[in-house]
Amino acid sequence: IYLLILGHDIHFHDKKIALLEAGPRKEYDRMPDSYSNRVSSISPGSATLLSSFGAWDQVCSLRLKPFRRMQVWDACSEAMIVFEKDDLDDMGYIVENDVIMSALTKQLDAVADRVEVFYRSRAVGYTWPLPSHSCDTSPWVQIELADGRRLQTKLLIGADGHNSVVRKEAEIKNIEHRYDQSAVVATLHLSEATDNNVAWQRFLPTGPIALLPLSDTASSLVWSTSHEHASELLAMDEESFVGSINSAFWSNVNHSDFIDAAGAMFRSAISLLKPSGTAVRQLPPSIAKVDPESRAMFPLGLGHATEYVRHRVALIGDAAHRVHPLAGQGVNLGFGDIACLAHHLSAAAFNGSDLGSLKHLLKFETERQRHNVSLIAATDVLKRLYSTRLTPLVLLRTWGLQATNALPPVKEQIVAFASK
Ligand SMILES: Cc1cc2nc3c(=O)[nH]c(=O)nc-3n(C[C@H](O)[C@H](O)[C@H](O)COP(=O)(O)OP(=O)(O)OC[C@H]3O[C@@H](n4cnc5c(N)ncnc54)[C@H](O)[C@@H]3O)c2cc1C
Repeated sequence: IYLLILGHDIHFHDKKIALLEAGPRKEYDRMPDSYSNRVSSISPGSATLLSSFGAWDQVCSLRLKPFRRMQVWDACSEAMIVFEKDDLDDMGYIVENDVIMSALTKQLDAVADRVEVFYRSRAVGYTWPLPSHSCDTSPWVQIELADGRRLQTKLLIGADGHNSVVRKEAEIKNIEHRYDQSAVVATLHLSEATDNNVAWQRFLPTGPIALLPLSDTASSLVWSTSHEHASELLAMDEESFVGSINSAFWSNVNHSDFIDAAGAMFRSAISLLKPSGTAVRQLPPSIAKVDPESRAMFPLGLGHATEYVRHRVALIGDAAHRVHPLAGQGVNLGFGDIACLAHHLSAAAFNGSDLGSLKHLLKFETERQRHNVSLIAATDVLKRLYSTRLTPLVLLRTWGLQATNALPPVKEQIVAFASK
């Protein structure tokens, strides 16, 4: 995306831009009938970014599912929160990662005169310039590819994922924490067709389970749970797997009379003070079957690079930050990085400045860290708060969720932040 923005930017007309991608070219004229198990919830802000260079039309012509409502609830109590948009606005879109890749690949072809893409090209080594170079060192970053080719650039953007080699080789510290959870993903078929325009998430004590709409009859599962349970879910026969999902959404085995009574009292008090403040609870759809071969698991973790930039280097996306998927924000944070970096580099190019200079890069770092750190911290707190069955904490989060649900201005602010 970054290359596409710069490829379309008039201030970059005299610059050469290269993309190194270890994987193959991915492009579809028509999507296969079955859905991919890797999907992302794309915010309206990210959709606008993709629209700015024509990629969103491509996404729409391939496949996506808008959703208008999000219902999040606790498995240990009746507490829930509902985020809703009116009939005209979408809250977000569930899009297969392959669809996004295909749309971007097509758009890259349109700027091929300015942007060169090297597929199946793995970068294996980097040589960094010194800020004020002496005569015997190159002033540019040198990149060595696995096939022996070498490239050099004034600015290297590390967008190489959470195991970023760019970050490691630049010796940028990364604050990391491996969660005690893996995410199980799968493509599911509903028992009956519905509008299916709600994204569902229930916080179980073992981790959140989410059902994201793909079509009127299909949804995508992201179930974060202990590594052992995730392995069991993958090994189960299909019928038991479907049974486990339905009971994870429907069972009240984690409820206690005390929390239910305390929650009901608080809810009554809220509805007396604010009669219009409670949203209607909807029931999630029941699952009939799972697509064979669609089950997979991914270990989850948190990561944050202490610096996003160095002289002639910038990190974006998961290379700079990794979040728990419970907020569905990983891709969106990366898209936000790209828009911000492209904005500052465009200004630098307009002024004829050196693109790799820390002067512009630091503006990008400050702006993005301010946004990303708060979201990463909030996601981590939610993960921890919902990983416990301790009565005082369950009570605290039950009342907190009920109170937040009754305060539309607070909910609007949450939606506005997540929609960027
Ligand atoms: C189960 C799960 C569910 C998720 N759901 C959501 C969601 O609903 N919404 C959301 O916003 N986010 C979600 N995420 C997070 C999201 O998938 C990531 O944030 C996103 O994929 C990060 O994108 P990236 O491009 O930074 O890194 P990656 O997707 O890891 O891409 C890195 C790229 O760099 C290439 N590469 C790596 N090393 C090299 C090298 N040395 N040379 C050349 N190329 C290289 C790789 O081939 C790859 O193409 C989810 C994550 C998981 C695990």
